[in-house]
Amino acid sequence: MAINTTLQERSNQICELCAAPDENLYAYTVPPKTEDVVENQVVLCPGCLDQIKADNYSDIPHWRSLEGSIWSEVPAVQVLSYKILNKLSSEEWARDAMDAVYLDEALVEWANAEDALEAEKIIHKDSYGVVLESGDSVVLTQNLNVKGTNYIAPKGTMVRKIKLVQDNAEQIEGKINGDTIVILTKFVKKSV
Ligand SMILES: [Zn+2]
Repeated sequence: MAINTTLQERSNQICELCAAPDENLYAYTVPPKTEDVVENQVVLCPGCLDQIKADNYSDIPHWRSLEGSIWSEVPAVQVLSYKILNKLSSEEWARDAMDAVYLDEALVEWANAEDALEAEKIIHKDSYGVVLESGDSVVLTQNLNVKGTNYIAPKGTMVRKIKLVQDNAEQIEGKINGDTIVILTKFVKKSV
């Protein structure tokens, strides 16, 4: 998104992270915020923007600029700097930069919110760590006592069109012998 006059003035028309002057500066809304208002936005040069979008911070020398930008008076710039420093935290200078600055608690929360959301995401995986999705077919990896019946589903039983139990990554639902039952993901293998 192109930058408006408020952002032009705030940034002095240079990248708010690496201070590169550029004709083409962009307003980047710092996730997980989605509202495109100046408080949520950082003015970026194409170089910074591309690397952030690619989630690729391997150009370490480029990001030394964060040692300066972390001290910005603009909260969004501090948050974005902090987020990237965090990804570079195997570098000593990056850890030092994070330690040196005092960031308001709300800003730290903003900076960490994306990772927190990611961690909360429930991902179902079979006994081999393969991601399961609704509609997949799985094979039982051991004999399974079907609760409430005296039927034992033998190892190797194919269960088609499973459903994921939304709030529990360890459970799926599937039909065995006509009954829909809850099956633990650690007892299944995705069938391809
Ligand atoms: Zn830049």
